[in-house]
Amino acid sequence: MTSTKWVYRFDEVDLAEKAVDGDWEEVRGLLGGKGANLGEMTRLGVPVPPGFTVTTKACLSYLEDGGTFPDGALDQVTEALRTVEASTGKRFGDSANPLLLSCRSGAKFSMPGMMDTVLNIGLNDDVVAGFTELTGDEHFVYDSYRRLIQMFGSVVLGLRDELFENVLERHRAEAGVETDPELPVEHLRQIVAEFHQIAPRFPDDPFEQLRLATEAVFQSWNGKRAKDYRNAAGIAHDLGTAVSIQTMVFGNMGDDSGTGVAMSRNATTGEDRIEGDYLTNAQGEDVVAGTRATKPIDELATEMPDMFSEFKEIARRLEHHYHEMQDMEFTIEHGKLWLLQTRDGKRTAQAAVRIAVEQVAEGLISQQEAVMRVSPEQVDFFLHPQFSPESRASAHWLAGGLNVSPGAAVGVVAFDADLAERWAKEDGRQVIMVRPETKPDDVHGMLAAEGILTSRGGRTSHAALVARQFGKPAVVGVAELEIDLNARVMTFGDQVVAEGDWISIDGTTGDVYLEALDTMVPDIEDPWLMELLGWADGLRRLDVRANADYPADAERARAYGAQGIGLTRTEHMFFEAERLPVVQRMIMAESPSERKEALEQLLPLQRSDFEGLFRAMDGLPVIIRLIDPPLHEFLPARNDLSKSLASHKFLLTKATTLAEIDEVLAQVEEEEHMLTRVEALHESNPMLGTRGVRLGIMLPDLTRMQVRAIFEAACEVARTGGDVHPEVMIPLTSHVNELKRQREVLEAEAKLVMEEQGIEVDYLFGTMIEIPRAALTAAEIAEYAEFFSFGTNDLTQTAFGISRDDAEAGFLVHYMQEGILDENPFATLDRDGVGQLMRMATENGRAARPGLEVGICGEHGGDPASIALCHELGLDYVSCSPFRVPIARLAAAQAAVRAGDPGPRGSSSPAEAASLG
Ligand code: PEP
Ligand code: MG
Repeated sequence: MTSTKWVYRFDEVDLAEKAVDGDWEEVRGLLGGKGANLGEMTRLGVPVPPGFTVTTKACLSYLEDGGTFPDGALDQVTEALRTVEASTGKRFGDSANPLLLSCRSGAKFSMPGMMDTVLNIGLNDDVVAGFTELTGDEHFVYDSYRRLIQMFGSVVLGLRDELFENVLERHRAEAGVETDPELPVEHLRQIVAEFHQIAPRFPDDPFEQLRLATEAVFQSWNGKRAKDYRNAAGIAHDLGTAVSIQTMVFGNMGDDSGTGVAMSRNATTGEDRIEGDYLTNAQGEDVVAGTRATKPIDELATEMPDMFSEFKEIARRLEHHYHEMQDMEFTIEHGKLWLLQTRDGKRTAQAAVRIAVEQVAEGLISQQEAVMRVSPEQVDFFLHPQFSPESRASAHWLAGGLNVSPGAAVGVVAFDADLAERWAKEDGRQVIMVRPETKPDDVHGMLAAEGILTSRGGRTSHAALVARQFGKPAVVGVAELEIDLNARVMTFGDQVVAEGDWISIDGTTGDVYLEALDTMVPDIEDPWLMELLGWADGLRRLDVRANADYPADAERARAYGAQGIGLTRTEHMFFEAERLPVVQRMIMAESPSERKEALEQLLPLQRSDFEGLFRAMDGLPVIIRLIDPPLHEFLPARNDLSKSLASHKFLLTKATTLAEIDEVLAQVEEEEHMLTRVEALHESNPMLGTRGVRLGIMLPDLTRMQVRAIFEAACEVARTGGDVHPEVMIPLTSHVNELKRQREVLEAEAKLVMEEQGIEVDYLFGTMIEIPRAALTAAEIAEYAEFFSFGTNDLTQTAFGISRDDAEAGFLVHYMQEGILDENPFATLDRDGVGQLMRMATENGRAARPGLEVGICGEHGGDPASIALCHELGLDYVSCSPFRVPIARLAAAQAAVRAGDPGPRGSSSPAEAASLG
């Protein structure tokens, strides 16, 4: 039996690859992203300090066995260490020529800063003495030593970091210096002595240091912040972390040394330009922590030109190798460049799109790869609010910082993560989390906040990375901002802002404003996004329509690439302030003539709305759905009415003049009348009551009026040269006879109007499928319907028997927390239940009527996972809110590619949708 290999040297990446049959994803799963990439860089000949990786399997075994290394793992560590010693010519624990090691976490998916790291392992008092002699640099050696004890103390021994920070702060004050590296060596020596007192369990034995550090990294996989992060980022909890153990190289060996982090392209805009921060004479954590003011990487070109050009060359090489923008850590030790890490760079949505599109132009990836590389959620960010120009112009500007994650955010200031989370989650307040800098422990607050503001840190600081990943607007490194966490206030010059005050931040420009500014949604005119969506259009098979009730929505939807309207909810037009009294009169009417009169008043209003829709969607289909909700929704609530009636009756007893009596009496009579009507219309279960087609059947005049409005509008637009394609849709059908009756009324009225107008308009007659009985009898229904549109809001409600209005606040949340349901079925289609009904209805409907048009207009039409199901079911289109249209275009293309079934689409031309802006 061959024993398990728990440890792979960086130069053994071939073996790791062989062990998993050449599957690079699995190499990443085994060695973690960091370990796999260190191996890959070694293989590519990039200068990487030698080292090895303890696998994620070892971590999982360690955690499962309650903290015991698997058999043979520690021996393999020792063996790998010997090889590293041989290649570096140094020895671990040897005071004459010591090898120092770093010990870093690295899971399959990057979790920046969420797990632990220990640097400078291998130092103790003896090694420090020998190392000082060897390097002749006591300052550097003691600086490294104090870092080791502090990191080991907090990470491995679980001591509070403040204990160490307080000592450092006192010494900085005593020595009169600003930063730790400036501390004179006498202070460093004293600090080390004090650190030893704080951490008496710090082990002298370097091997013990290494073993304990490795264990601490393993355990950090299950730390709270790592779990929180995984929950938020949707990373599985059973992957484990690998540990990469690597020869230390030192960026803190003087002015010909340094360390930095850089992205191969600009992570905010996507511009093809190296971007990053570095520090001379420093170790890595100084840059990432954001505690020292870093220098932009461009300065390295003047400070150390050779290093800069070598780095640039390596960055390009790595990008070409991975076909992805890279996020790299480097160290320069006495004029020698080392790469310590590379990974795919996190980026804003804008950068993701631009990089993908430009990499196609550079021949690095195909159009299809570019389409797959951008997530539908990233497209969503293009539709994120911005501050309106008027509101910005009159705003009280406080300061400017680095614009690290775009979008406008407005909220009240909260100075810590717990408070930010509480205010946001429990009190439903909009919060901006403000911190000097953020740490991994702050992630829950950042996620709950609308936006993030920090006084320190650069583009690669923790705050910037996390904000970008989760699409939270963020401004960091606002130098004028002073935060007093004790007094719970912050100051910008002499402007004081207290916790709980409103501020606004603009992550696109870096501006910070006092008070709450108005926001607006921008047009998506980003040229790279246009290009990418154009490619997506060429790959998808589903058309994308929009749910739009007003001409302005329809215009926006078309600008976003909608290929028609999939749903107009005509009742929404009834709710408008000036129309409601007429609608109420129509409902209250006591005689047919009274009702007719009210309907005649509504007719021109509906006609003009429909005309606007047809014009906005010239040449494209427009589905207009006849009125859906129960009539009592248009009347005042029963309780309110009773209360008001009671108070008017009381007033009547107090009225003294005749005029007063007349006035109050009129009100009483009107309210009594209304109450009688409201009571007559009241239903215990209105969702299952007189709504949808049932209303149309009860009030055929209402159907006639709506049909007349549709056809008068269509004829008018056609007469003036427009190209109209109305599709009239009946809601909530459950029985074919309902459709038969409505169709008769509709056809007669449509014919009448067209004859009056002297114009023929082609139209389709169809129905929503939103009741299981309709899905089950789809074949019969298709005899009368020329199209189906799945109303999955109601279909989910009726298939599950869960009220769509109440469930999301109640037990459904509990169901998801308990894992009874994996997902909210009102957000993502329930594949096994509702999906089956859809499949059956589509197949049986098309069997009965070949060419039957089938689409979806429930909220699921804008949800990427549901769009994938719609693709699978062979639907013709999805319809969603105008703001989801660009997302749906991309999601539909991705669904087609994933299913191995990319376009070109048959019916309508992608060019139409692609020609935006
Ligand atoms: C549906 O039920 O999915 C639908 C689109 O109709 P409404 O939401 O208007 O009931
Ligand atoms: Mg419905």
